[in-house]
Amino acid sequence: MKPYGSLRTHGAGTLRRDHDGDEVVLGGWVDRRRDHGGVAFIDLRDASGVVQVVADAGEGEADEVLAAAHDVRAEWVVRVRGTVRSRPEGMANPALDTGEVEVAADHLEVLSQAETPPFPIEDRVEADEILRLSYRYLDLRRPGVGDALRTRAQITSIMRRVMERNGFLDIETPMLTRSTPEGARDFLVPSRLQRGEFYALPQSPQLFKQLLMVAGMERYYQIVRCFRDEDLRADRQPEFTQLDVEASFVDEDDLFALFEELMVELWRDVLDVELNVPFARLTFDEAMARYGTDAPDTRFGLRLTDLGEVFRGSDVGIFRSALDGGGSVIGWRLPGGGSLTRKQFDDWVEFAKRRGAKGLAWGVVEPGETTRRPTLRSPLAKFMADDEVTALVAATEADVGDAIFFGAGPTIQTQELMGALRVAAAREHDLIPAGKWAFCWVTGWPLVEWNTDASRWDAMHHPFTAPTDESLEGLEDDPGAARARAYDLALNGTELGGGSIRIHRREVQERVFAILGIGQEEAREKFGFLLDGLSYGAPPHGGIAFGLDRIAMLMAGKGSLRDVIAFPKTQSGSDPLTHAPAEVDDGQLRELGLRLLPREK
Ligand code: ASP
Repeated sequence: MKPYGSLRTHGAGTLRRDHDGDEVVLGGWVDRRRDHGGVAFIDLRDASGVVQVVADAGEGEADEVLAAAHDVRAEWVVRVRGTVRSRPEGMANPALDTGEVEVAADHLEVLSQAETPPFPIEDRVEADEILRLSYRYLDLRRPGVGDALRTRAQITSIMRRVMERNGFLDIETPMLTRSTPEGARDFLVPSRLQRGEFYALPQSPQLFKQLLMVAGMERYYQIVRCFRDEDLRADRQPEFTQLDVEASFVDEDDLFALFEELMVELWRDVLDVELNVPFARLTFDEAMARYGTDAPDTRFGLRLTDLGEVFRGSDVGIFRSALDGGGSVIGWRLPGGGSLTRKQFDDWVEFAKRRGAKGLAWGVVEPGETTRRPTLRSPLAKFMADDEVTALVAATEADVGDAIFFGAGPTIQTQELMGALRVAAAREHDLIPAGKWAFCWVTGWPLVEWNTDASRWDAMHHPFTAPTDESLEGLEDDPGAARARAYDLALNGTELGGGSIRIHRREVQERVFAILGIGQEEAREKFGFLLDGLSYGAPPHGGIAFGLDRIAMLMAGKGSLRDVIAFPKTQSGSDPLTHAPAEVDDGQLRELGLRLLPREK
């Protein structure tokens, strides 16, 4: 196919000085029109960019062209024939890639007229998002908005190239299927032919990709839509896309190397950035202890420090009782934080309380007056022994002029609070270096976590994740201590993806189901097909899934997943363009054997 189609010869945005004198035919949208009576300028926009078209008064056809140029309006679709000419010295427009040339039109044809758009088709104008999504086809005409989709397409193309180069096959898995547990609610689809029965839209292709390994396909990938019915946060969409991968006879290192190769190629080709590999690796425990999160932002320091040794036996009641109760005291230093005002410290205390903490301690390291030991300016200072202050300053490696934040409570909560504070303070005080891409594998995850509300163990990743060999012995005695062969890839504090080496032996899978409170009957009813598959010679296998929308968002420098999805849903899960979800008529419900309950107030 001709790159610009048979109706055109060139892309508007591709014209340069070396096209001088060429006869071209362009087609696109009227970006802007400037009319000076005897001469009219049209900025003509197509997917490749914008070029200036000039209609001059002259003889014969020229006047017709000028008359037509007078009539056109913004967003009309036109076709122009003309000659490329270099703009005179000093008349170039540096804001346009095509700014050194213009096209002198000798023919102009209107292909479509347009209503006045509800918002200007310009990147600079911030229109209301609901309005933009209602007219998404106009929104996407804005270069910056449309470019995000072009970047996304480049990303998927590179993903396919790398996966295929490594021998992976693109295999589709069903959309109408049974529930696959990934920890969210299913979207259900009622069956007309089997009344009263429902398909579930896949939360992921997890079980199918494992069965493809049983089937001997060995290397599978898919760029696949997944569906999770969750209460939506700003960075979630009910349907989203994953690069989904599974491979046989591999271990963690094989997969890490493959995805490092992929990331290097993506960053090189899309952003012209050379990444350093191998990526850093942290265990889950290290990530929590140093950064207070399982998706650490390692672009900057401000690491957390365990202060158990400092405050063991302390007179400060909250510290001692936290430690005596098996919890932790954790702190970190904010370099130069001594210059914060009292109000700023109070705001951080409020920040901690909003996140459910009882309080937050802080102190500023100051030079000691009579001794060479530093002192602490802090609301808690009078309760702290001199040795405690010295040990605190030493443990956090704080200098005079730094602030120290510290807090106590149950370990995970305190880690998470300090981790959130660390990131928020780094943002607030501009301590995050720009243009840095910090990737980090997080490994050694717990296999299960205790669900207090339901009084049961939940899989930390999903129920098909293999325990480490060491954890397999005595698994039932202390499930909470078991470690999984699971891993996540974090980038700048965001989880890009995660996966695991899977259980490939039926009896192990049954043991893990039992720990998760999935009885034999339930296991057979829900996952019988997987268990059967594992009984027919399953190779060791493992895989991963990456959130494509998130990767595209980060690489395109956008702030929301909606920016990299052509037709996204709003935060309430609706689509302002098509007005989905929508009511259906009684006939459709009857066919499906469904009747609606009255809406709850
Ligand atoms: N199925 C997992 C997910 O969708 C990824 C994996 O374990 O490969 O998050």
